[in-house]
Amino acid sequence: MGSLQLKSIRKAFGDHEVLKGIDLEVKDGEFVIFVGPSGCGKSTLLRTIAGLEDVTSGSIRIDGQEVASVPPARRGIAMVFQSYALYPHLTVKDNMGLGLKQAGTEKAEIDARVSRASTMLSLDPYLARRPSELSGGQRQRVAIGRAIVREPKLFLFDEPLSNLDAALRVQTRLEIAGLHRRLKATMIYVTHDQVEAMTLADKIVVLNAGAIEQVGSPMDLYNRPANIFVAGFIGSPQ
Ligand code: ADP
Ligand code: MG
Repeated sequence: MGSLQLKSIRKAFGDHEVLKGIDLEVKDGEFVIFVGPSGCGKSTLLRTIAGLEDVTSGSIRIDGQEVASVPPARRGIAMVFQSYALYPHLTVKDNMGLGLKQAGTEKAEIDARVSRASTMLSLDPYLARRPSELSGGQRQRVAIGRAIVREPKLFLFDEPLSNLDAALRVQTRLEIAGLHRRLKATMIYVTHDQVEAMTLADKIVVLNAGAIEQVGSPMDLYNRPANIFVAGFIGSPQ
C-alpha cells in the first residue's frame, strides 16, 4: 500500500506555470528521489502530493484512488521538511504524538507508537526535552519520528538533511535507508545531493523547469543519460 500515480500535473501561481505536465508512476515500497535545480518545482510537486497545494489540473492517485476527494489528513501521507517544523514549547514526546492526538487517537496507542518510533531513532533519552535542547540532527530525527508514528503508507521528504553538517548527513541518510527497509513504506525524497540520490534511490526523477527530463535507476541515469542536462546533473559534482 503506497503506490502513486501522477497524470499531467500542472500547477500555476498566477500566470507563472511551475509544473508543466508531470506524469509519474511510483510503485508500492519504492524509494524515489527528485533532483533538479533550485526553483524547478520539486517542493511544489511534493506539496501537491501531500495536499498542501491544489493542482491547477491533472490527477493524483494513491493506491488507485483519486486524492482530490480525500482530505490531506486522510491520505496516509507524512511529510518531513528541511526546517524540522517542531513546536518549541512541546517536549520531544509531545511533538511526536501531537498529530495523533489531533486525529483523536487514544492515549495508550499514542504512547505505544511514540515509544516504538523513539527507540527506532535512538531518541529515548530525549523524550522529555524541548527542541531547543537538542542538536540539529536530533531535531530532524524527532521530525522523522513524528512522521513515523502516523504509520503513513507514503513518506515525503523535502531536503531533510540539508541543514545538517557532513557527518550527521551521512548518519541520518543511513538511518533513513534503514527505516525504508524496515517500514517497507513508499518514500519520495527531494535532494540536491548526488550521493544521497545515488545511494538511496530505486528510481531518480530528474526535473528541470517544471518538467521531467528523465526517470530511471541511478545506474540508468549514470550510464545512459537522456540528454546533456541529465548528464551534467548526475555525472558531475555540483
Ligand atoms: P524547488 O523546490 O525545486 O527549489 P519550488 O517548488 O519551491 O522549487 O518553487 C518552484 C517555483 O514556484 C519557484 O519559481 C517559486 O518561486 C514558485 N513558487 C513556489 N511556491 C509559490 C507560492 N506559494 N506562490 C508563488 N510562487 C511560488
Ligand atoms: Mg524546494
